[in-house]
Amino acid sequence: MGVFDSVGTLLADIANLITDGQRILSFSDKRHWGQDEREQERALDAVLDEARKDFQELGPLVNGRSQYEHDRRHDSIEELRAIRAKFQALTEKLKDWSRSGGPIDPTWVRETQSLKRELHRAQCRAAMRVFTSAREASQLCLGAYIVQRQQRAPLRNSRTGDKPDEGSYQRYYAEELLACKSVGTFQRFGEQDIAFVCDFCDGHLVWEDLERMPTVRTSTQASPPGSSNAPVSLLPNASNWQATGVTHCGQHQKQVIFAPVAIANHIVPRHGDWEARLRCPLCEAIGEQPQDEDDDEEAYRPDEEFDDVKSLQEHLEWQHGPSKLPIPLPTSAATESNCRIM
Ligand SMILES: [Zn+2]
Ligand SMILES: [Zn+2]
Repeated sequence: MGVFDSVGTLLADIANLITDGQRILSFSDKRHWGQDEREQERALDAVLDEARKDFQELGPLVNGRSQYEHDRRHDSIEELRAIRAKFQALTEKLKDWSRSGGPIDPTWVRETQSLKRELHRAQCRAAMRVFTSAREASQLCLGAYIVQRQQRAPLRNSRTGDKPDEGSYQRYYAEELLACKSVGTFQRFGEQDIAFVCDFCDGHLVWEDLERMPTVRTSTQASPPGSSNAPVSLLPNASNWQATGVTHCGQHQKQVIFAPVAIANHIVPRHGDWEARLRCPLCEAIGEQPQDEDDDEEAYRPDEEFDDVKSLQEHLEWQHGPSKLPIPLPTSAATESNCRIM
């Protein structure tokens, strides 16, 4: 331990501490166990499972596991050392408990669960630092990249000529949202807004005046010009970026950016900023295609960044033309009064 700490060695230390805790519990006399002891055991298992899963999944995303494992960026090392110290303290408490006997302290379960969350976020941020250091100044977040990958997955997996049915679309949307929830959290923001907070960059994306986040795109019919039968709605150049939401007071329907579209295009906030900026996926897609000479270059600026979800939406509405959306019918959502965010 010490000067040679790397992300890999610190994670190994932490895993060993968790294993020590598991061992202490497994050697204790289970005949005296109650609910709290069983929950503590489950909580330790869960931390270790998630930490392993994160480690296995994040490595390949940042140019290979060894780069992640051997990384020694100051912030990552400091964060993981602090977490290691907390696991050390927890393991000590478990040791004392096994010596003195009696019921386990039920607050340790909550402590373990919050350490699980801390460790998850520390791993996300550590991977993100490796990811962004390999890129130019204005960077797509690793969290955004993970959601993009999910959005492109159905296209990769579909055979040519397959036209997805409505059920497939619903499944794609659910998978996109699931990918979003694996990289951050939706939460109520102020009285009326909903924010998505990214685990990787801590960037916030804010949807103003929204009762709860819509879970499907408004239209599965819209497709970009020249598209094949592939599930184009899921490409980053999808023209159906909209979803139908309800204002916070529940009175009016409105079109918002479908959450995964924004999340898949967010940029790491500048130092000191809390809000993540965004790129326009449609401009980006157009920018990647060969341009005709008589193209209206004014309209498409692949490098342009938007300060927030609202300005990206304004841009999409103004620059990418009126969409051929069906008029949404009033739904029961408009009259529901429950306050669930999703
Ligand atoms: Zn992010
Ligand atoms: Zn654009």
